[in-house]
Amino acid sequence: MSPAATTESLDTIVSLARRRGFIFPSSEIYGGLGSCYDYGPLGVELKRNVKDAWWRSMVQLRDDIVGIDASIIMHPKVWEASGHVNCFHDELIECSNCQVRTRTDQIDQIEPKCKANKGSEHAWGEPRQFNLMFKTHLGPVADSGNEVYLRPETAQGIFVNFKNIMDSTRVKVPFGIAQQGKSFRNEITTRRFTFRMAEFEQMEMEFFVKPGEDEEWFTFWRNERLNWFANLGVNRDRLRHRDHEKDELAHYSKACTDVEYYFPFGWSEIEGIASRTDFDLKQHSEHSKKDLLYRDQVTNETFVPYVIEPALGCDRAILTFLADAYKEEDIDGNKRTVLSLHPRLAPTKVAVFPLLRKDGHPEKAKEVYKVLRENYQCFYDEAGNIGKRYRRQDEAGTPICVTVDHQTLEDQTATVRDRDSLEQSRVKIEALKSFIFEKFGF
Ligand code: ATP
Repeated sequence: MSPAATTESLDTIVSLARRRGFIFPSSEIYGGLGSCYDYGPLGVELKRNVKDAWWRSMVQLRDDIVGIDASIIMHPKVWEASGHVNCFHDELIECSNCQVRTRTDQIDQIEPKCKANKGSEHAWGEPRQFNLMFKTHLGPVADSGNEVYLRPETAQGIFVNFKNIMDSTRVKVPFGIAQQGKSFRNEITTRRFTFRMAEFEQMEMEFFVKPGEDEEWFTFWRNERLNWFANLGVNRDRLRHRDHEKDELAHYSKACTDVEYYFPFGWSEIEGIASRTDFDLKQHSEHSKKDLLYRDQVTNETFVPYVIEPALGCDRAILTFLADAYKEEDIDGNKRTVLSLHPRLAPTKVAVFPLLRKDGHPEKAKEVYKVLRENYQCFYDEAGNIGKRYRRQDEAGTPICVTVDHQTLEDQTATVRDRDSLEQSRVKIEALKSFIFEKFGF
């Protein structure tokens, strides 16, 4: 049975994202560019928080994972070795009447009736293989000798740095290398907002293990990665694992699981966890003619490590957090739209308001704002009535609002309003930081 959807349609999220400055269509004044999006003032904060949460849990809080930041343009041989030049294809079909194109496995996402031939079915042509990599040229002259690709995944930047990491650090198997950064895919079908984009950001980690220990680590990362979403507030009922069937696996792959989320358009992959054996390192060793063996310092044993890869798209993670946090509530007959984002992810942690724009309220509120922003991303607002200001912050996902009023000037307390419970309490200004710390846990 499917869980309850957050909202009925993706359009609701798209409209909130645009209205509140989370996500805009790219180059909008020129009509937009399908499949590319820009993050606005709230969106960029949310994105930074998502990336930080991932980096913190995958790198900084672990002793066995290090990070890198490789270049987007890499030696073209990387993509021959990885198999992307020959195999990174999707199957494309095109309607010969209205020219609509789709991936064959996504035909259900297309309007079933042909626009050019109203009422009739599409006239699909023969399926064609389409390589998803963007090609460009390095240097001023465009010829076949200097063709390069925009990377379609960040993972290969990790494999080609395996030897550098082994030579420059003291990592010992099992260990991981993590990376965040832009990837590019010339996707055939780019509907569903930021779910599928041409330019997107990935957060990937390659975990190198001793062959034979791969199954245990696969199970570990399979669970760990679903829990990461749940620990950041995503409703567990809307998360599930989908284990790939044997016939879905690549020839080198031992196992693969998708973490799926129940979006307004149904269950869909947000992250893949793959057990990739020693395929990538062996391929790069063969093509580069470099020794990519791991040497155990104690036993002197050498082997090519197996790899477990959790691969997540940052933009898909953001769409998940937005869709899951979105709520419409009826409060005493009034509709309220609220984003119940986890405090770690919320773009603004605390909003500070003066109740009135006179009587010393703004001066005092600015004082409070300046103190709180030393520790938290804060927002000061004195425009419009207090109810409107609360509603704006609810839509922005701000967990706490602090309001300064006449009583503040008398007893140095301010009203603290909780986004989710709507509870209001009076807290001494000097105790605000510890109050927030206790509530957020940071
Ligand atoms: P799909 O089947 O949806 O095309 P995939 O299995 O090809 O995805 P991977 O190559 O495993 O995806 O990439 C890892 C993750 O990167 C995905 O789980 C997803 O979160 C993200 N991702 C992949 N392609 C895109 C895209 N075009 N736009 C946004 N995110 C993407």
